[in-house]
Amino acid sequence: MQQRLIQPLSTFVAPPPTLLFRVGELLRRHRNAIIVLQWVVVIAYLALVSIPAFMPLPPADGRILHDLTLFAQFVFWGIWWPFVILSIMLMGRVWCGVLCPEGALSEFASRFGLGHPVPRWMKWGGWPFVAFLATTVYGQLVSVYEYAAAALLVLGGSTVAAIAIGLMYGRGKRAWCRHLCPVNGVFGLLARIAPVHFKVDRDTWRNSTAAPHPIHCAPMVHIKSMRGASDCHMCGQCSGHKDAIRLSARLPGSEITNLTDKELNPWEARLLVFGMIGTAIGAFQWSSSPWFVAARQAVAEWLVAREWWWALDTNAPWWLLTHYPEASDTFTWLDGAMIVGYIAATALVVGGWIWGWLRAAGACLDGDGRLNSLRLSYCLVPIGGIGVFLGLSALTATMLKAEGFVFPWLDWARGALLATGALWSMALAVGVIGKTGAAPIRYALSMPSVGMATGGTIVPWILMFYLW
Ligand code: SF4
Repeated sequence: MQQRLIQPLSTFVAPPPTLLFRVGELLRRHRNAIIVLQWVVVIAYLALVSIPAFMPLPPADGRILHDLTLFAQFVFWGIWWPFVILSIMLMGRVWCGVLCPEGALSEFASRFGLGHPVPRWMKWGGWPFVAFLATTVYGQLVSVYEYAAAALLVLGGSTVAAIAIGLMYGRGKRAWCRHLCPVNGVFGLLARIAPVHFKVDRDTWRNSTAAPHPIHCAPMVHIKSMRGASDCHMCGQCSGHKDAIRLSARLPGSEITNLTDKELNPWEARLLVFGMIGTAIGAFQWSSSPWFVAARQAVAEWLVAREWWWALDTNAPWWLLTHYPEASDTFTWLDGAMIVGYIAATALVVGGWIWGWLRAAGACLDGDGRLNSLRLSYCLVPIGGIGVFLGLSALTATMLKAEGFVFPWLDWARGALLATGALWSMALAVGVIGKTGAAPIRYALSMPSVGMATGGTIVPWILMFYLW
């Protein structure tokens, strides 16, 4: 009898190592090399974010390779941000766990800090939404993409906050990254569609006789119950634990089609629809929008007619509104208000359109319509992520064009990416609706609504890239 009880444990055989498993093990075994790499990135980041802020503005004919300010601008906005977005969609949050200077500094500070437990206020689920919106809008007001002082304020300010939180909370943990980082929510959403993740096999965990090794999970993931890639920073520290955790391949987006009711998070849906899609589109679009120009002109005439000259003053400080008279680039109070208004209006119109159609799609399915629409909202992660990549890479293209590079294929590439994102999102919706066991008629009723929501994500990009 005893023999039979013991047998399942003693005959347990760990699955053979795959290439991905070996990559995961590499991350775990070479932690010291990763830490060295993180410090190299930290030093480069601190130099590029701070030095240009104290240099004169680059000349009009300056070149990326000859001017540190332009070089830093290209590194941050032309390479770093667009390709971090892309990398997370393809590899999960490797950026966060292996390269992010802010995460590394926060974790380092936390080793020597006060070690307080993470307070309740910090665990509020709305922080990723609020922090993303605030940073995005503020970045536009101070022209973070164009000026080094603004970049130091926004990126450097975030880094100082990350270090301060590290000094206060956790012991060698990343409380900042887990709860307050302005892009944590967006990165978490994008990681959900990555084709690789650290997979936890709970049965193997339970049955394994392998000696456990201590795990230091800096973003404080509850590893045993981890089902998705959203919170995992892909640091590899838990790879091979009890033979149950392996870096594994999966169908891109399968995490979204398999979300349980408990895993659906209304704040994530709001962030995706009104933030990552609505607000981001407004922020990327306002400077090229003829509607913005027309509305600004109309409001300016209205103000002039009433002699409210103060609204047209350019006396706001540079840390509140863009103020670089030497570059003939100064915002009036009206400009500031119009930018906030345009971004807010875009977020509400685009987000509201998508939200409304998702609710309609959810109502066509069996069960709780609100829960259905929440589940369907996650299907827009691919098109939302590709939109943000396209918006950021537009800066890359602009900077490279100024260097004399020509991209005759750019319009086609953008169109192909938008089409890929839309089809991917629609395919996920087919999978999600399929999981509800919907009858064909309900399928047929809900899919057009999902199509309208997806269309609402694409149209603003078509306006920006092809019509304006
Ligand atoms: S669960 Fe934690 S320890 Fe494991 S890879 Fe992800 S971040 Fe690292």
